[in-house]
Amino acid sequence: MNFCPRCGLTLTSREDGGRERQSCPDVEGCGFIHFGDFSIGVGAVVFSDDKALLVQRGQNPNRGAWQIPGGYAEADEDIALSIEREVLEEAGVTAKIRDAIGFRHAIGGGIGGPSTNIYIVFRLDAEPGETSFDNDEIIGAGYFSLDEMANMERVQSLSSWAIDLAMRTAPDAGLGVAMEGPGADRPGWTMFGLRPEDTL
Ligand SMILES: [Zn+2]
Repeated sequence: MNFCPRCGLTLTSREDGGRERQSCPDVEGCGFIHFGDFSIGVGAVVFSDDKALLVQRGQNPNRGAWQIPGGYAEADEDIALSIEREVLEEAGVTAKIRDAIGFRHAIGGGIGGPSTNIYIVFRLDAEPGETSFDNDEIIGAGYFSLDEMANMERVQSLSSWAIDLAMRTAPDAGLGVAMEGPGADRPGWTMFGLRPEDTL
C-alpha cells in the first residue's frame, strides 16, 4: 500500500501502539493507519430435518471435497447478507441467518492468500426446496445425515466440527443480529450479540 485509501496522500511511517505502521501524513485531519491485511470468510450450517447441507468443491484446492457452503464477505457487504448470498449461489438454497456459532482466526493463513483471516460460521434457517449447483465451482450439493457423512470421503474437518457444534447447541444460543445497540441503526453497521432468553 503506497497511498492513503481515504485521502490519497503518500503514506509515511509512524509509531503507533509500539510498532512502526504505514500511516497517513495528515495525522490530524485524516488519521488513517494501516493495521494490516485481513479477510473475512463465512460458512453456513443449514439443516433440513436432521440433515446438514454440504456442497462439493469443483475447483482446486481440494476438488471433490465436501464442505459447508461459504466464501468471502466482500469488503462493502453486510456480513449477514454475504452468507445468505453464498448459500444461494452455491447450493440454490434460500436461507436466513439465525446466529453465529463459532469462528476461526488464522494468522497469515486464509485460503485467499497471505492475509490474516477470520472465518465465521453461522447457523441459518432454510426455506424448503431442492438444492442446485453450477457444476463449475460446485459439483454437488445436498443434505446429509451424520451417518451418511461418516461414509463420505473427504468431508472438510472444519465443516464437521461446525455441524456437530450446531447439532449440540440450541438455535439462537449463539450471537445474533442485535436490533438495538450502538450503531445498530447506522448504515453499514451490524451489531451481533448474545440474546437473553426473554428477548427471543
Ligand atoms: Zn489520509
